Amino acid sequence: MTNQLALLGGPKSIATPLPTFNTIGEDEVAAASAVIRTGILSAYIGAAGAGFLGGPQVRAFEEKAAAYFNVRHAVAVNSWTSGLIAAVGAVGIEPGDEIITTPWTMVATATAILHFNGIPVFADIEPATFNIDPHSVEKLISPRTRAIMAVDIFGQSADMRALREIANRHGLRLISDTAQAPGALADNRYAGTLADIGGYSLNYHKHIHSGEGGIVVTDDDRLAERVRLIRNHAEAVVQSDAPADLCNMIGYNFRLGEIEAAIASAQLGKLAGRVESRQRAADQLNAGLAGLRGLTTPLVAEGNTHVYYVYGMKLDPERLGVSRERIVAALRAEGVPWLASGYQNIHLLPLFQKKIAYGSKGFPWNQPFVDRDIDYSHGICPVAEDLHERTFLGLNLCMGEYAQADVERVIDAFRKVWDNLDALASS
Ligand SMILES: *Cc1c(COP(=O)(O)O)cnc(C)c1O
Repeated sequence: MTNQLALLGGPKSIATPLPTFNTIGEDEVAAASAVIRTGILSAYIGAAGAGFLGGPQVRAFEEKAAAYFNVRHAVAVNSWTSGLIAAVGAVGIEPGDEIITTPWTMVATATAILHFNGIPVFADIEPATFNIDPHSVEKLISPRTRAIMAVDIFGQSADMRALREIANRHGLRLISDTAQAPGALADNRYAGTLADIGGYSLNYHKHIHSGEGGIVVTDDDRLAERVRLIRNHAEAVVQSDAPADLCNMIGYNFRLGEIEAAIASAQLGKLAGRVESRQRAADQLNAGLAGLRGLTTPLVAEGNTHVYYVYGMKLDPERLGVSRERIVAALRAEGVPWLASGYQNIHLLPLFQKKIAYGSKGFPWNQPFVDRDIDYSHGICPVAEDLHERTFLGLNLCMGEYAQADVERVIDAFRKVWDNLDALASS
């Protein structure tokens, strides 16, 4: 029987692997080569003065990014992890200040908070969008809460209107980790620009990339200046005789190189096209997977556009009669690539379970500046936990542009598995 599942001995639905992507083209080769020929691969100087803001490629990229995202300041950094750390430092947190964030993200969101001895507190997520749940945020606000770190997970903005309202009411800063959603819109503004400070990743897996890199965006002159200082050793402040705000001026070297900046400029010009390609693939998946029992395709919240770093679905194992793990095994056997079974529950990592960050003795949670016991136990984020453990199924669309014929093969494989749910259940 040709329709028999590959998992049960039938033929594979996708017998030859789908193509991999190379999103670096001649534009990037030319841009990088031109920089290499100058011999100047970075032009930063740590001290105050002309070199403090970096070389011509970095500054040109920042100008282009600020215009693109329609913000006063775009600050290039050597990774978005660096950008997150600089943003946390820039908002001026004191040791022991709490920042509320989501566990449904990659670990850098939460570890960036620890860098200036901030304390991550985890709010639950909304089951339909996977983004941080403003109601859960509000319940976690304590006298020590200083900021909310939202994440625009999988490619659409968190509910920034609700988060802004909460932040204003409680005097909190709003930070946005928009690594996965460059080019997504929320109320006709670019995701990442609705917070006090936000930004994007330029790592190899993201919509546009320069190998490694990141962009911090903000309309706030002071935050931008503080990020620029943290990016570049903060020497310009700690060495000057002028009275200066020394808060969190432990500088780093977060400087993006000239080659990467030139590549990033070329890539930025391709962002809109790449976003469109993802949206086309997602529309095709939405149509092709519609009506499959016990499967929910992504919800795009009102006022949002989605740029599909991940195409996030939910399964209902009770209605399916089989577990997610069986479905995933069957899809994998059919040759479906890009599958993500579950995502992340950052609060359950040993780092937080054992509360060991700096050194081995429990710093910073064991310090007097942390005046309450922070709960990271299983059960604090029931929605995120259930999604991770039982019901979330994703397709990682994060690596390129998708041909209609390839997406169709993925849809066919899903439909084949769903045609055989009874066989799967009884096997
Ligand atoms: C990729 C990513 C980061 C980290 O970005 P890097 O540029 O790799 O440091 C942070 N947060 C989220 C949600 C990400 O997806």
